[in-house]
Order: sequence, then C-alpha cells, then structure tokens
Amino acid sequence: MKAPLVGVLALQGDVAEHLRALRDAGAEAVPVRRTEELQVLDGLVIPGGESTTLWRLAVAFDVFEPVRKLVASGLPAFGSCAGMIMLADQIADGVPGQQAFGGIDMTVRRNAFGRQVDSFEADISLSGMRDGEPLRAVFIRAPWVERSGGDVTVLGTEQRTGRIVAVRQGSLLATAFHPELTPDRRIHELFVEIVKGYR
Ligand code: GLN
Repeated sequence: MKAPLVGVLALQGDVAEHLRALRDAGAEAVPVRRTEELQVLDGLVIPGGESTTLWRLAVAFDVFEPVRKLVASGLPAFGSCAGMIMLADQIADGVPGQQAFGGIDMTVRRNAFGRQVDSFEADISLSGMRDGEPLRAVFIRAPWVERSGGDVTVLGTEQRTGRIVAVRQGSLLATAFHPELTPDRRIHELFVEIVKGYR
C-alpha cells in the first residue's frame, strides 16, 4: 500500500520536526499553506507554536475556513500544543475573538500550567496505543484539557496535576505536549494508523 500523504500546516511553529516524525512513522509528509495543497491530503498535522498567531495567519492565508471544513468533514488531524488549541471546540483564556478550527468536543485552557513552569518534561502514561511504557513529554507554555465530551477518549494525563494532556475523538488526535521534539514515535505512529484507516 502506498504511504499516506500527510500535510503539516506550515504557517508557523515546529513544522520540520513534524515532517521528520511523520516520515519516521511511515507517511509521506509535506508542508502545506495553500487551499489547493490541502485538498489532496489524507491527513493534516497542526504544529505547536502560538495559537493566536496560527489563527491570524490561517485567516490571512485564506486557509482558516478550508481547514475548518476539512476537519469538520472528517479529515484526520493531529494537533500538538497550539495545534491542540486549534482543534478544540472551546478555548479558555484565549485573546478576544480568538477562533479555532474546532472538531474535538473539549475546552482547552491556554498556558494552563502557569508562568512559573513555562517549560517542563514529564512522563505520561498512555493508553490506546502500542505498549504501556510512559512517554517522556516536553511541555512548552502548554495547554491542558479542562473539559472533554462523551465522545472524547483520554489517552494520557500529566501525573503531577492529574490534567488531561492527550485525547482522541474519532480521526482527531491532540496532545498538549510536543511528541515531535522527542525520539519516541508512538503518537505519530498512532496518527499514521488513523490516517490509513480513514483512507
Ligand atoms: N501557549 C501557546 C498558545 O497559546 C502554545 C504553546 C506551544 O505551542 N508550545 O498557542
């Protein structure tokens, strides 16, 4: 079977790291920033960065509505950190007027772990994927999931706070941390499996 084609939304953020992780996980991976490029994808990754900037750039590049519609119509998508915020149906602590693509029935709080711990690493116990070893996760001004709806499966929580930091709803996947920055490829492998199943 031909490798699925996964785009990484290349408006801002850690695009190159996601491209590498997706290729390691068996996908063909390309940066995308135009509507025409979006239409041919089997899946889309929304990288970390800054959700307010991602939102403004998506509007400026005329891809906000196209991405929102593709995600709503079932295109598999994976968002890390700011990307998780972009896949949330509700944002807590957004800037006035801030919009997300939505898709996952959850409320995500921006910068939730607080200023004093801007960045940290923690072991996350994962469920719903290959083997049970904890995943070493990098959090950078990270959000957490404050509310998740009935169709949302919790894949991981941060142990110190007990907060939800990895979720799946159907073909949508989101993590508050950055799996693209560490060598463990389980999250990207799970996403590539989801994409193959959808195709
Ligand atoms: N705090 C950022 C935001 O609100 C997310 C940080 C990140 O993606 N590393 O978008």
